[in-house]
Amino acid sequence: MGAVRIIDVSPRDGLQNEPKQVTTQEKETLVKLLHAARIRTVEATSFVHPKKVPQMADASDVLVGIAGMKDLQSIALIPNLKGYERARNHSLSEVNWVSSATETFNQKNIGLTIDENMEQFQSLVAQARKDGIQTCFSIAVSFGCPYENNVSEDQVLKLVKRAKQAGADRIGIADTIGIATPDHVHRLMKKVLDIAGETPIAIHLHDTRGLGLANAYASYQAGVRIFETAVSGIGGCPFAPGAAGNLATEDLVYLFHRMNIDTGIDFAKLLDAADYAASLSTKNPLGRIRHVERK
Ligand code: ZN
Repeated sequence: MGAVRIIDVSPRDGLQNEPKQVTTQEKETLVKLLHAARIRTVEATSFVHPKKVPQMADASDVLVGIAGMKDLQSIALIPNLKGYERARNHSLSEVNWVSSATETFNQKNIGLTIDENMEQFQSLVAQARKDGIQTCFSIAVSFGCPYENNVSEDQVLKLVKRAKQAGADRIGIADTIGIATPDHVHRLMKKVLDIAGETPIAIHLHDTRGLGLANAYASYQAGVRIFETAVSGIGGCPFAPGAAGNLATEDLVYLFHRMNIDTGIDFAKLLDAADYAASLSTKNPLGRIRHVERK
């Protein structure tokens, strides 16, 4: 494994908001290309209600389709315990549970208070441990919320503490609407890492305002070593108005490689995956480097 670990979330965060139905076969091909580029962890799908996010209705089929890929760790997002019941029958290394830093976003996104959500997460941890599946606790809108504007560092840090106490195997800090700035990221992530101790911390970045790379670098400087990005920068959150695409995996890998920071990823093959992801998206993807860098 490289000095940093990249989790590509394009099959889930990248495609969930895509209006054109992407076939199960196309999703499998995307994961296959990511795997060929030596991406070792992929957020493959989401067990949300098919009516809420029709693009993810084939969650089970996608996981069955990619189950045989060697050394590939698959993550599925689950919005509730019902989603977990569907997810647990698959070969998954981790389930990703989302809370929001603010009450309003949590209500709109999940329909629960933060306390109710945390209670359910505790039951999830107990069950997932029995099943041998790891849990990630992701904190959405950690740097700013479309409904409550300012999000205090305290709100985020309190949740990090509670997630750790609840037994999360990993904690993700998400800039869901791409509003973070590097100074904010650096300050908050240092505190998050302090509180988290041994619990691995990831940052999940959106490039809505073109600050994704700067924020990734600020996170790296603060000590973060796990990054959640999507090839070609496809995606965005369906429940976060104005949340344009994720930070592009290949742009971040390019930055790391230029700085001699090992990612373990084959950059040339990653560009193939990025091109393919772009071809699945009806939007104009945000990733830049694939337009100028070729082997
Ligand atoms: Zn996201």
